[in-house]
Amino acid sequence: MAPKTLHDKYVEAFKHKGGQVLSTKDIKSIMLWRFPEVASNSILPNDHGAGNKSACWCADTCYRVFDRVGRGKYRVMSGLGGGTPGTHWPKPGGKGGQGTGKSVPYSDITKIWDSDCETDWLQALCWYWTRVKKSNRDLEQELNSLDLSKAGDIKDWYSFLLCKYIPWKYTDSRYRSGVTSRFEGEYNDVAGIKRLDKIICQLFSSDHSVVACALGIAMQIKGLGVAGASGLLALLFPGYFGTVDQYVVKALCNVPTLPESDKLQAMNAKSLSISDAVVLVEIMRRKSECLNKIFHSTAWTPRKIDMVLWAMRK
Ligand SMILES: [Zn+2]
Repeated sequence: MAPKTLHDKYVEAFKHKGGQVLSTKDIKSIMLWRFPEVASNSILPNDHGAGNKSACWCADTCYRVFDRVGRGKYRVMSGLGGGTPGTHWPKPGGKGGQGTGKSVPYSDITKIWDSDCETDWLQALCWYWTRVKKSNRDLEQELNSLDLSKAGDIKDWYSFLLCKYIPWKYTDSRYRSGVTSRFEGEYNDVAGIKRLDKIICQLFSSDHSVVACALGIAMQIKGLGVAGASGLLALLFPGYFGTVDQYVVKALCNVPTLPESDKLQAMNAKSLSISDAVVLVEIMRRKSECLNKIFHSTAWTPRKIDMVLWAMRK
């Protein structure tokens, strides 16, 4: 079906460009090449980004098409089309917006978890973006579009962990400063950098199917506990890991149909052990496999399940 609204045309034109940074001029050319009938002066990327007075309904919601990253520069949102709903979807919060479909109540993981409707899951994934603080969105988008699939240069890893990963994972400044100083203290000389290099190499060569093994290696990085290590694994190997933390435990405790229900209730959510993490990651793996099977997809990963669970926290 041909896209009807200007917003839908943007989604169509940019859905394969998630993460790319484009200039206003690039955006105009792409739109006009794809939809020559659109008036050139109506192509205003910020209307589908942070927004202004007469912006599109998508502005400043998780449905937006762009993030403004500089003067006349915009990053295309990841997951447009496939992962981001169109105008026919209800807006987060169940208010309906321009939507006509039924909405699953916001934060109701019990209804999402056993849903076999992909729209429910995609919408829940979209809610993730509405719950990321505005000040963290740029970093979050950047981390989601990074290629972290290779071990690479250790100096790059050092700065990635210190300047990107730790600030992203530890949004609470009280924890962040402690983690940062432990990390910096441990890896502040040549010998330290060598130790970090060894850990990163081990991480990439470990058997990712064994949760406890990879987690144990990631936890050797000074400053990272179970939650911090799992978050790093989820970014590096999203097909194998999801982040485990108190939010995931609390969300899963609200799912009565899980066979691990008793184990979940018994967990100390604020101080998870490696064996708790194994249980949690296995649940996320099982769920993503199950969703891929019923939706004939390969797009669902444990990482996306953790994003849904985090978005569903009360
Ligand atoms: Zn729009």
